[in-house]
Amino acid sequence: MPQLSLYVHVPFCLRKCGYCSFVSFPDRDETRQKYTDALTREITLSRQDGFTVSTIYFGGGTPSLMSERQINAILERIHQLYTVSEDAEITLEANPGTVDGKYLQSVRKLGFNRLSLGVQSLSEKDLVFLGRCHSAKDSLRAIHEARLAGFNNLSLDFIYGLPNRTTSVWRGMLDEIIGLSADHLSLYGLTLDPDTPLGRAVASGRTPAPDPDQAAEEYEITSRKLAEAGYRHYEISNWARPGFESRHNTVYWKRGEYLGLGVAAHSFINGSRISNTVSLDGYLETLSKGELPRDEIEAINPELALSETIFLGLRLEDGISMDDIGRQFSIDLPGRYVREIAELSALGLVEVSGGNLKLTPRGRLLGNEVFLRFLPS
Ligand code: SF4
Repeated sequence: MPQLSLYVHVPFCLRKCGYCSFVSFPDRDETRQKYTDALTREITLSRQDGFTVSTIYFGGGTPSLMSERQINAILERIHQLYTVSEDAEITLEANPGTVDGKYLQSVRKLGFNRLSLGVQSLSEKDLVFLGRCHSAKDSLRAIHEARLAGFNNLSLDFIYGLPNRTTSVWRGMLDEIIGLSADHLSLYGLTLDPDTPLGRAVASGRTPAPDPDQAAEEYEITSRKLAEAGYRHYEISNWARPGFESRHNTVYWKRGEYLGLGVAAHSFINGSRISNTVSLDGYLETLSKGELPRDEIEAINPELALSETIFLGLRLEDGISMDDIGRQFSIDLPGRYVREIAELSALGLVEVSGGNLKLTPRGRLLGNEVFLRFLPS
């Protein structure tokens, strides 16, 4: 049976982080309950026949603000309507300040077998700078309690390239991060939308802007140190101990099918990309009328499908097999992109090895420049 991944978006946060440009809303008990009811309705209305669910991912926002009862209601509805594989990867994103040992034990019992903690930094000063609503101490406690609760697949998120600290501070923090023995690490360079509190602080000169050279140096140091510590750099921003690569996110990069549930969620199914409304009121109202909260449905034509297959696949360590893609789209891939591949190779951004086209270490830093070259004209 074909496999399907489910993404459940929980858009509530205790407060907005200084750098956040995601769709998120203040957390209120009553709204969260209405949202849970709407989500269960959406799961029913959007049901896809003939699939086995292989991964489920609760992302946000802050999914760990959902009570055990609310999470259970959503998971129960999924299990009522789908066959979920016995070895399904089921991830919960959590803010370290919102979870305790009891909560983690409960969600582990509900079936979550992977926890992704948004630690972001191990320095209290950085967390204040970023406007996070948890402390580094909260993170260390949450990591300890997650292990005690039986989470054998633990992922931690961090941000590098912070303008308030030096590269040598990041280098030292990396040693501490490695010491935490996470199974998976997602590391992102700080980017600032001008329409965020930190973006405005930079624009007004109150805060220095993130420096791309600093971010590049920190990325290179990270890549080297994590490789020495046994992590596989399997995707541009993701590292894992062998066997702990995120199965859910790999579905995105390999253009597998997934159904996004919740406000602002995206799906890719039956050759179409679908986005839900970004309005919370609109989402609740549409579902209360028994309709799906669709904002846009775009059928992906073969040209765009080829382009997506290339630039999503290039994000992965092994890149893309030119033969496989050639067969899939009935094209001679090296011939069709002869100029792009030659120019990007000359710039040191891609390389061809064993029939695969992949990013070089420099290409990983400048991935967007590479991806642009494979967009449909
Ligand atoms: S926790 Fe995440 S989604 Fe929520 S405000 Fe912070 S960065 Fe945004």
